[in-house]
Amino acid sequence: MSKILIIEDEEAIADLEKDYLELSDFDVTIENTGDQGLKTARSGDFDLVILDLMLPGMDGFEVCRNIREEKDVPILLVSAKKDDIDKIRGLGLGADDYITKPFSPSELVARVKAHLARYSRLVGGGRESNNVIEIRGLRIDKTARRVYVDGEEKGFTTKEFDLLSFLAENPNHVFSKDELFRRIWNMDSVGDIATVTVHIKKIREKIEHDTSNPQYIETIWGVGYRFKV
Ligand code: CA
Repeated sequence: MSKILIIEDEEAIADLEKDYLELSDFDVTIENTGDQGLKTARSGDFDLVILDLMLPGMDGFEVCRNIREEKDVPILLVSAKKDDIDKIRGLGLGADDYITKPFSPSELVARVKAHLARYSRLVGGGRESNNVIEIRGLRIDKTARRVYVDGEEKGFTTKEFDLLSFLAENPNHVFSKDELFRRIWNMDSVGDIATVTVHIKKIREKIEHDTSNPQYIETIWGVGYRFKV
C-alpha cells in the first residue's frame, strides 16, 4: 500500500483529500504545519508528499526545498494562488507537479496515481531510489552508471559520471575546483584543476539545454561549482 503524506493546515481540505485517497487504498498521514510536516517527511518512508504552499510557520516552499535536500520522493504542490506557479518554476524547487485550489478530489487522486506509476517505473520498484537521482529532466542511474536527459541516454566518461554524481549527491553545496579535483581524481594536489573546468564544460554540453544559462551545475565565480536543486 502506497504511503502518502499530506501537509495542509486547512483541516477540512486535508480530511477531504485523505478520504478520497483512502478510497483508492492509500495509507494517508496528515500534518497541519510545515515544521511538523517536514519532520514527518524526513523520518517516514513516504511514496508521495502532497504539500500546501501557504502554511503557518515554515511555508511550503521552504518545506519542499528541505525535503528535496534529503529525499527523492515525488512532491505535489498545492497552491491557492495562480501567481505561485511562476514562483514554483522560477525557484526550481524540485517539485514534481502542482495543482491549484480549488481542485476536485478525484483530480488529485488521478495525479497522485500518475506520479506513483511514473516514479515506480523510474526507480524499478519504488524502494531502490537511493541509486537513482532524478532532478527535473535529469536522471542519474548510479547502479547502471547511465545518465538520461528527458529520457534520452547521454554518453559519459568515468570521470564525467563521477563528477556529475558527486555534485548531484551534494546539491546546493558549493565545491571549489581544488576540492572536486581531490575528491574525483584522488590525487592530492597533483595534476591540474583546469581538468575540473574541462569536465564541467563537457557535462554541461550533455545535460544543459542552454550551456550559457546552466540549470543544473552553477558556476559560483571565484569559488567553484554548485549543483542546483
Ligand atoms: Ca494553507
